Amino acid sequence: MKDLDLTIYPDKILRKQLNLVEKVTREEEETLKKMFNLMHIYKGVGLAANQAGIDKQMSVIDLSDGYGPIYIINPKITKKEGTFEMEEGCLSIPGIGVKVKRAQKVTVEALNIEGKPIRIIAEGFLARALQHEIDHLSGKLIIDYLKLPARIKVISAFQKKKKGGK
Ligand code: ZN
Repeated sequence: MKDLDLTIYPDKILRKQLNLVEKVTREEEETLKKMFNLMHIYKGVGLAANQAGIDKQMSVIDLSDGYGPIYIINPKITKKEGTFEMEEGCLSIPGIGVKVKRAQKVTVEALNIEGKPIRIIAEGFLARALQHEIDHLSGKLIIDYLKLPARIKVISAFQKKKKGGK
């Protein structure tokens, strides 16, 4: 399998509703591990498959808190409690910070890297990371939380950057 590369906004795959994984196989396991490596190269705490150009509902999160990486496949948020606002960044939208209001506590149902159903109950920063990654899988980005004038400014800056090449 080829090496993965980070996709940068406005790459179209970042706006895609990604495909559900029908069966977790060796291929998904290898892809997730490559995503984990890619995330570390860019010093991120989370990476969704479309950020690595892959059209599958899979993400990895690693808060470097000693618990190791969390791999989630076909995740769904089944419960949300409370809210808190915090500035977030995204590896695919470099240099941009957006204040996002998210649930303080979430319950997520997903499959793990072995294809087994798991339930994660998370609070605070981990809850936030899960919501950020799950947003990615349906093509949602942090810039969508910006109010309109600021959003247009960011979008046009990235479009221009793309047109101008590297
Ligand atoms: Zn992101």
